[in-house]
Amino acid sequence: MAIERLVEPTMAQSDAEEEKMEISLRPVTFDEYIGQEHLKNNLKLAIDAVKKRNDGSTLDHILLYGPPGLGKTTMAGVIAHELGASLRVTSGPAIERAGDLASILTNLKDGDVLFIDEIHRLRRAVEEVLYSAMEDYKLDIVIGKGPAARSVRLDLPKFTVIGATTRTGSLAGPLRDRFGIIHRLEYYKEPEIEQIINRTAGILKTKINPDAANLLATRARLTPRIANRLFKRVRDYADVNGDGIIDTKIANEALDLMEIDYLGLDPADRNMLRLMYENYGERPVGLATIAALTGDETTTIEDFYEPYLMQMGLLVRTPKGRVVTEKGINHLQNPQIKL
Ligand code: ADP
Repeated sequence: MAIERLVEPTMAQSDAEEEKMEISLRPVTFDEYIGQEHLKNNLKLAIDAVKKRNDGSTLDHILLYGPPGLGKTTMAGVIAHELGASLRVTSGPAIERAGDLASILTNLKDGDVLFIDEIHRLRRAVEEVLYSAMEDYKLDIVIGKGPAARSVRLDLPKFTVIGATTRTGSLAGPLRDRFGIIHRLEYYKEPEIEQIINRTAGILKTKINPDAANLLATRARLTPRIANRLFKRVRDYADVNGDGIIDTKIANEALDLMEIDYLGLDPADRNMLRLMYENYGERPVGLATIAALTGDETTTIEDFYEPYLMQMGLLVRTPKGRVVTEKGINHLQNPQIKL
């Protein structure tokens, strides 16, 4: 059975409280958005160019990819804000029929930004409508059925699509080609995560001492969403077991309680590595086999577990399957010791 994960890098499951917090924690401007300097510089240039031309042209469509929780949705909001545009948010699975997309598109205004999360999960028929909409701001729709059916071409406002995906590989070639700007979001550096934690502490009016912020930054899997989530859990712990101030003692106790090890792995990560190692040793294991071992979906493993485990060198992908590395084996044996 899959283990419920504290460090799951997805949005919390519609906990209204958390949702509100997510919004207040979301950076709104480039200056507030910490890290991803390369991406920011490129986007700033593109946005400045559009503003300077001021001839009604719009920003190129943008594809952002990378593991969940790294700030793709947040960046879409920042881009819209910096453009002075409205942002409309949807996701691949939410657009069920071509008609749904048509209604979203016809309700946009010139210059609007349409954010499509999990764009690799768009249905084929929807994707096809999106091609021509992105390419030349036209919408081809069929009115009526059978012999009386006719095709009509509608003009659409000039909008910018920002697509987000955890994997570009699953994106159909023609869709990928419609994006003028394609960027990968990188894992953050520890000092950047520390900055994010201190920023969050400031917004949530919680005192955290520098050593504790540094400690949490080493456990947050280099991912802002996890940093914020860990911070909130540790804050709860500090409120209940201390005077609300987060110091290293409180932070360590809370991390122990959550069973987060020094690399930021939680029991589910260690469980996956352990099952792979115990059953297959250092031999490659196929994705479907890993999924069967852990009880997770293959997509969960590919999107949530693997990227960080690979980033830390605990797991490698080979043509024959995934292999636990020596570092992974060492970590399993001593999860609390920095090797
Ligand atoms: P994604 O869309 O890639 O899954 P999000 O944009 O939803 O990730 O980011 C998750 C959370 O992490 C946001 O709510 C925001 O509070 C925080 N966050 C993301 N990127 C940054 C950043 N660069 N600086 C500060 N906080 C960030």
